[in-house]
Amino acid sequence: MALPLLLTNAVICIPTPSSPRVLEGHALLIDRGIIARIAPQHEFEGIAAERIDLSSRIVLPGFINLHTHLYSTFARGLSGVVPSTSFTEVLERLWWRLDRALTLDACYHSALPVLLEAIRSGTTTIVDHHASPRAIRGSLDAVAKAVEETGIRACLCYEVSDRDGGQAAREGIEENAAFLAARGDASSPLLKGLCGLHASFTLSDRTLHEAVEAGRQAGAGFHIHVAESAIDQEKTRAQSGLSVVERLSRFGVLGDRTIAAHGVHLGDAEMELQASTGTIVAHNPQSNMNNAVGIADLARMKAHKVLVGLGTDAMTNDMREELRAGIWAQRLKQQDPSTGFNELVHALWNVNPLAVSRLWGVPIGDVSEGSSADLVAVAYAPATPMTDASLLGHLVFGLGSACVDTTIVGGRVLMHGGRLLLDLDEQEMAAKAREAAKDVWKRFVSLS
Ligand SMILES: [Zn+2]
Repeated sequence: MALPLLLTNAVICIPTPSSPRVLEGHALLIDRGIIARIAPQHEFEGIAAERIDLSSRIVLPGFINLHTHLYSTFARGLSGVVPSTSFTEVLERLWWRLDRALTLDACYHSALPVLLEAIRSGTTTIVDHHASPRAIRGSLDAVAKAVEETGIRACLCYEVSDRDGGQAAREGIEENAAFLAARGDASSPLLKGLCGLHASFTLSDRTLHEAVEAGRQAGAGFHIHVAESAIDQEKTRAQSGLSVVERLSRFGVLGDRTIAAHGVHLGDAEMELQASTGTIVAHNPQSNMNNAVGIADLARMKAHKVLVGLGTDAMTNDMREELRAGIWAQRLKQQDPSTGFNELVHALWNVNPLAVSRLWGVPIGDVSEGSSADLVAVAYAPATPMTDASLLGHLVFGLGSACVDTTIVGGRVLMHGGRLLLDLDEQEMAAKAREAAKDVWKRFVSLS
């Protein structure tokens, strides 16, 4: 059996917003993928363990990205996109053309480089929302293959929608069901699934009903875009007479293992419904600003006790960047320079761990004994005193550009000293991704 792993000489940081702590002179023992013990370093003298010296580094829980789209990697540098004047045009001219151009091969090759970027940024868990309407069957396995090759933790789903016709909607439901059935065992402990749905405004009653049934039978929660743009509310109300969240509630989509991305255009009653069902909102501030759809009102959601976590919607893989952008966005929205900080650190270090702990059924995202050993070490020499009281300020204002040195997922060291410890040729992988992207871009043009 492998020896336990002992992380020594680091400053261990526990960024839990209600009681942040800085532990100096401590070491952290990892055994069978779990944080077995955190104690003063001298207490570990003489124990049989592999040791990693993390001098001049701080140890933090691995970052969690609660909403992203790995396939959108292939939008980087994509030219020939006619400028959009609305969110609907952003979808029609870019995303719904790009995802239609994906093959199974492209699903795999678009995921792999971005997963490595995540590891390099200290992101240890990704909650992905996948779409490839002309290559649906097997697409989640293609993404899962990339996930398994990198050793990262990921929760996958296929976004069911009627936007590509009834046949694609049925196949999307089947793809979720097949993936959930195949991955429902313990053979891939780092992989989980949700039942994916695109958004209320692209889902007919029939499709929504069938997808919810499939999710229920698999015992899974849902992952869906909710009120990202005003168009979701307008179309849903025109078709059903209900608000987006009311409609989703009636169909049984809400719940404590459901992730509702965005929530930019929500009424008070909708926030109440989300709070009362334990539904978790994934806030994606950079994406919302990029698409000019508005900025979610975190102050109002807080007043309604809605659980708000943080995702990137594929704008970045670095949660530090998203955290900071989210704070600035709230300040601008509320016209208040002292708001946003607490809401965003709460999202990243309270709600994201809660969300993925619910999905995996074990504690994740915390530096505490018994938690999964998903950890990062960052090279950081504080220029001001770093204490329990100042830790969160350091993490927001000082850590942004610090180098991630070590990334550990489920006790496995995926990167150390800034070097990936994976059986992958990064250059070759990137070259193959570029080839696949070239083909996707050709099909993208022909779909216009
Ligand atoms: Zn999204």
